[in-house]
Amino acid sequence: MADYKELADLIFPKVKKISYYEEKYPQRNLKEGAIVTRFAPSPTGFVHIGGLYQSLLAKKLTEQTEGVFFLRIEDTDQKREVENGIIGIVNALRDFVILPDEGMISETKEKGNYGPYKQSLRKEIYQAYAKYLIEQGKAYPCFCTPEDLDAIRAKQEAAKIRPGYYGVWAKCRNYTVEEMIEKIKNGESYIIRFKSLGREDRKIKHHDLIKGNIDFPENDQDIVIIKADGLPTYHFAHSVDDHLMRTTLVIRGDEWLSSIPLHLQLFHELGFKAPKYAHIAPIMKNDNGNKRKLSKRKDAEAAVSYYEEEGIPAEAVKEYLLNIANSNFENWRRANLNKSIDEFELQLNKMSVSRCLIRYDKIIRCRKNSYIKNDGRKSIRGSF
Ligand code: GLU
Repeated sequence: MADYKELADLIFPKVKKISYYEEKYPQRNLKEGAIVTRFAPSPTGFVHIGGLYQSLLAKKLTEQTEGVFFLRIEDTDQKREVENGIIGIVNALRDFVILPDEGMISETKEKGNYGPYKQSLRKEIYQAYAKYLIEQGKAYPCFCTPEDLDAIRAKQEAAKIRPGYYGVWAKCRNYTVEEMIEKIKNGESYIIRFKSLGREDRKIKHHDLIKGNIDFPENDQDIVIIKADGLPTYHFAHSVDDHLMRTTLVIRGDEWLSSIPLHLQLFHELGFKAPKYAHIAPIMKNDNGNKRKLSKRKDAEAAVSYYEEEGIPAEAVKEYLLNIANSNFENWRRANLNKSIDEFELQLNKMSVSRCLIRYDKIIRCRKNSYIKNDGRKSIRGSF
């Protein structure tokens, strides 16, 4: 009788064993409490001020704890990639002096021992871990065509039930291993899905370093982990990469908060220790009395390049971003007029849970108040 191992070998005949990668990327030898974190943008457009904010917080926390800040390029959605996307990200971090200790330093070059730091170069690593899941019956090939998936969606909509590929809807999870092998040998195309044992009517508890304690329903969706092009989805790449790069804290936008049940489940099923998470509220602006998210299309100030064009020094922008991150920054600045922001102690538990309001008029004032220090460094004084 065929077993999962045979299926896994048929799907991924050439990949290495995961023990190879576990040894290649050992635990980091850092002092206790050191934070390892990252900025993990997709090169799909201009660098958004929210991305800069995120990387500034990440960099500061690693400096405060003698940890490691790295830049990982998440380019697994190659259709959405833009020309010069990577270099735009690298240059923005350089211009704002938020320098990664590891990761991509140009379009093609990188530094550090935990790479490659560009996901499209890590294909075999993801496949090794997908194979490991298939061997244990925790992932399987799905042969559903786009038409099959449309038909499932239409039925769910008509019956007003929760959409997705789960439970009775996840029909490919019920094939026997022999049937799966036969379909593959017959040349049917497939992708790889995670086989969730989660149940929507059960809850998990999560503690977020910014949002606090939250209960979520378990994840029961059999999500795609390896796509038809052999590359992973964001969710799978997140768990494999942040495990192998030995990330201890994930700081990211709160649009990912709802993925927590899935991410914790993936870490658990892969046998990894999950990192801590801090989900940042979006940067909002006051638009004639209405508070709304900064829009990539409508708001010029959403792009980091805008500030330089307006003559606002990088340090003034960073100063302002710290001001919206921690409300005690303003008092600290008043009491420490000549200190560098490097000396300010950022605290995640002082971050706003629901929104970070950008006051454009205040940033503009930074420009007016900026001055050149004796040592030639641009700085600002008492701007807020
Ligand atoms: N590539 C994802 C994004 O740009 C990264 C999210 C994360 O930091 O994990 O939103």
